[in-house]
Amino acid sequence: MVCRHNDELEALVREAKKMTGRGKVADYIPALAEADENDLSVAIYYTENTCLSAGDIEKTFTLQSISKVLSLALVLMDYGKDRVFSYVGQEPTGDPFNSIIKLETVNPSKPLNPMINAGALVVTSLIKGKSAKDRLDYLLAFIRRLANNEKITYCQNVAESEYKTSMINRAMCYYMKQYEILHGDVESVMDLYTKQCAIEMNSLDLAKIGCVFALNGKHPETGEQVIPKDVARICKTFMVTCGMYNASGEFAIKIGVPAKSGVSGGIMGISPYDFGIGIFGPALDEKGNSIAGVKLLELMSETYRLSIF
Ligand code: GLU
Repeated sequence: MVCRHNDELEALVREAKKMTGRGKVADYIPALAEADENDLSVAIYYTENTCLSAGDIEKTFTLQSISKVLSLALVLMDYGKDRVFSYVGQEPTGDPFNSIIKLETVNPSKPLNPMINAGALVVTSLIKGKSAKDRLDYLLAFIRRLANNEKITYCQNVAESEYKTSMINRAMCYYMKQYEILHGDVESVMDLYTKQCAIEMNSLDLAKIGCVFALNGKHPETGEQVIPKDVARICKTFMVTCGMYNASGEFAIKIGVPAKSGVSGGIMGISPYDFGIGIFGPALDEKGNSIAGVKLLELMSETYRLSIF
């Protein structure tokens, strides 16, 4: 599938790119600091299998928190919502993605939602498989089906870099293990979580996955119902209420589409029944969202009237 370059979209990218200087590439995961903060690319994948792009959409990036939507979909499919939501809540937080504070102040001590790190770690701990390798292969196979791309894998360098430095996430795991929210071996949860976050793709792959959600779980290319409708609906709702960290409220008002960002600078957006959006712009704002990516979505929302509200 060839993605056609589009001049109108390129003009929006040029405009949004002016913001990159005001952002900063994430460096708390050392390997992410290597990204070029001036990058900005976008792909739009339509339900009828056409695609428009602007910027260098060949560049790959790691999913980071965007993977939280995909691991959530997988465990919801395997366990059902009652079981999953007995471990993790459904409410937004006003705290940063890696905040630990609510684990202690909220009772019972379960994470508020699966889009923050604590909740995502619990979700990852539920991924099925007999061994660590099985669990990773199972998740990768699901993501390859979503992108219809067998080549997708994870970036070892980024995974190792996070695994070595991710002490707050470890602390949250141990805290939740104490309260029997998280089960199993913390180091193997951390190993799988950091590999999950390091799954790598380009904006076109991401836009295509967004398009699966836009079609309520049905794949635009293969026609397969990869995710049951109800699970796709739950994931999109979380994207609206908690997908853009503690900027989700402002994002819903300004832009108004289900979206999930990651600290690599990726954003997956969804225009229901119409298209999926994949953006990569590694310079982040103070909340951890791609600064130019959010600006680009704002311009796209105004130009194409995307708000679902
Ligand atoms: N791997 C990252 C972490 O846990 C994901 C954070 C994000 O993208 O928000 O810190």
